[in-house]
Amino acid sequence: MPRQESYSYASKIQYRRPQAAAPRRRPSTAAARPGHGPARSPDWYAMRRRRRRNRRLVRGGVLAAFVCVVVAVVLFLIPCVEQVLAADSGSDLPDMPAAAKATAAAPAPELPVVAIDPGHGGVDRGSEGLGFGEYEMTWNTASALYDLLEADGRFAPCLTITEEESRDPDCARIKPSERAQRANEQGAQLLLSIHGNSDSAESTSGYECYPIPPGSANHEESLRFAQYLTEGFGALGQRLRGVDGIRYIYYGDNDEKLLYESTDTSVHGDPTFGVLEYAQCPAVLSEQCFITNNADVDLLGDEDGCRRAAQLYYEAICGWFGLEPTQ
Ligand SMILES: [Zn+2]
Repeated sequence: MPRQESYSYASKIQYRRPQAAAPRRRPSTAAARPGHGPARSPDWYAMRRRRRRNRRLVRGGVLAAFVCVVVAVVLFLIPCVEQVLAADSGSDLPDMPAAAKATAAAPAPELPVVAIDPGHGGVDRGSEGLGFGEYEMTWNTASALYDLLEADGRFAPCLTITEEESRDPDCARIKPSERAQRANEQGAQLLLSIHGNSDSAESTSGYECYPIPPGSANHEESLRFAQYLTEGFGALGQRLRGVDGIRYIYYGDNDEKLLYESTDTSVHGDPTFGVLEYAQCPAVLSEQCFITNNADVDLLGDEDGCRRAAQLYYEAICGWFGLEPTQ
């Protein structure tokens, strides 16, 4: 048997001595030496250097971006951690009762602003009543109502004119539109304009009020307030004029007054009372009583009558806000 046939291929591999890997040589010259691989052109090596440089630039850019992201995350987390630590330490303050902390956290709710308009004043004396002027009755009633609302504590009352603007006959007239504007500037949620009625016939009497008419903003809520008013004055025994004491008034082409009962819900294009026209909240003009009628003055026009009327207004305001009167 020939000797070479006794060797299998596996036995050749088994007994073959491993050879050390040949060191990689970096070609130093463009022209390969004989026996050391194919020859490379100078352009080939230049291109390879450019590729390596580009790869290094890309790796550097990626690394820089990564570092930036890490720094941003750390900077973002530091304040958060500080807040958490501060909150933890604050909750452990032993000298701050829970009620005090709750008070500090929850701001006090703002009270609803109720604007009271004493309908006349200054050079505008209004109608002349039985021994007093309309401006006096409107101021006395308005200031009494102001005191009631303030003492209640759940309202922020405001007056559209000052006492001086009411009582001083030299004070300029504050127009109804300006009165409404003052109420608007106070952020009024409800406006009540107080007036006294008058008639050449001393027998004329009764109560009536004028909400913002149909077709205007705040009509519905003005009507709802007017209903509280007529309910209160009616319960006192005062006669309600017209159908139910609620009326709408408009000024026609020649400034003549056009009067409609509350049952007329049609929309008219004519303007109504200026104080209602310019109010940006529900508003009612109230003709408290006939200051030319003895019985009306006794009930709602003299000193006691003004306080009585103020009480009715106060209760109507509470009702409109859904609150029970406390006085
Ligand atoms: Zn008046």
